[in-house]
Amino acid sequence: MSILVYIENREGKFHKGAFELVSYAARIAKDTNTTVVALSIGEITKEEMSRAGTYGASKVITVNVPRLTALDNAAYTSVIEQAVSLEAATVVVLASGFTGKAIAPRLSARLKAGLVPAAVTVPVSYNPFVIRKKTFNGKALAEIQVNTAIKIITLNPNSFGLHEMPVSSEIVEFQPAFSERDFGTKVLSTDKQVGKVLLTEADIVVSGGRGMKGPENWGPIEELAGLLGAATSCSRPVADEGWRSHTEHVGQTGKVIAPILYFALGISGAIQHVAGVSSSKVIVAVNKDPEAPIFSVADYGIVGDVQKVLPELIDAVKAFKANA
Ligand SMILES: Cc1cc2nc3c(=O)[nH]c(=O)nc-3n(C[C@H](O)[C@H](O)[C@H](O)COP(=O)(O)OP(=O)(O)OC[C@H]3O[C@@H](n4cnc5c(N)ncnc54)[C@H](O)[C@@H]3O)c2cc1C
Repeated sequence: MSILVYIENREGKFHKGAFELVSYAARIAKDTNTTVVALSIGEITKEEMSRAGTYGASKVITVNVPRLTALDNAAYTSVIEQAVSLEAATVVVLASGFTGKAIAPRLSARLKAGLVPAAVTVPVSYNPFVIRKKTFNGKALAEIQVNTAIKIITLNPNSFGLHEMPVSSEIVEFQPAFSERDFGTKVLSTDKQVGKVLLTEADIVVSGGRGMKGPENWGPIEELAGLLGAATSCSRPVADEGWRSHTEHVGQTGKVIAPILYFALGISGAIQHVAGVSSSKVIVAVNKDPEAPIFSVADYGIVGDVQKVLPELIDAVKAFKANA
């Protein structure tokens, strides 16, 4: 029996989100008196893999197969399914990002395992197995009870945090078996997020909406983000218009984020947008319309023209940094 956690790497490096998942799995393992096995797919050094031990993974299984170089959800599901069986895992933890959204339901169907998507807590009870998740676009919390032998959880980013629990970590290479049905799709191109700060892991996010009027006005957003060490994001129409890449689109159909500070600049605050950002600790909104729905979820609101307010915000941050 074990807790299996699938952790993604970017260019051979684990990031904060991967270690948050291991921390989360380690807490469940501690509560249920079992161990954590982390699964990594792709080329990654042993040194990097052993970092998972800092957060409580006593075993790291690595799968490095050329056919898996490009993310293929069906093939990755097959690998995780085989690792679950290899480790007799009873709980499987994944991130609730795009990969988790695509893999977890497939895994659930294959393993006949109950799934809690986008959980925000560790189980509130283990017998019965009950976890809280956000529902109604983040406006309410639901308690989900899972009765199957194997349970699958996808965790919202920044919901549990990083908790060190150092253990020595055994690293094991695994060669999964594949059938042709595992490779039913062909990845023709990939659109990777560029930029220094990973959006789903950023503590601060500066986001622009259609009120920014056009892609030529994104310079100040990037400047503010650079000053604050923040990631940039946008509303869906901004990505649909091609002003920004879809890798930055947040909301119901985009990424779900939970930064400490979220700037909504020229964003109306439609329910589908708020669904992706409502777990932010503090929301600051700038909108020229005092009736804009974003103000009902914002902690701080500035009614004004974003083209005027944004340069003032940048100057204020610069002045603060100069005096700090
Ligand atoms: C099924 C479905 C899924 C969806 N998923 C998503 C999603 O994942 N993410 C998402 O974002 N949307 C999503 N949407 C779209 C959503 O309903 C809204 O249309 C969208 O969020 C609006 O984007 P916006 O706020 O940038 O633009 P708008 O609604 O056009 O709002 C622009 C805002 O900018 C303000 N503004 C204008 N000029 C200025 C200025 N000079 N200074 C200050 N403020 C100004 C306006 O007052 C307005 O509030 C989805 C819709 C559907 C139907």
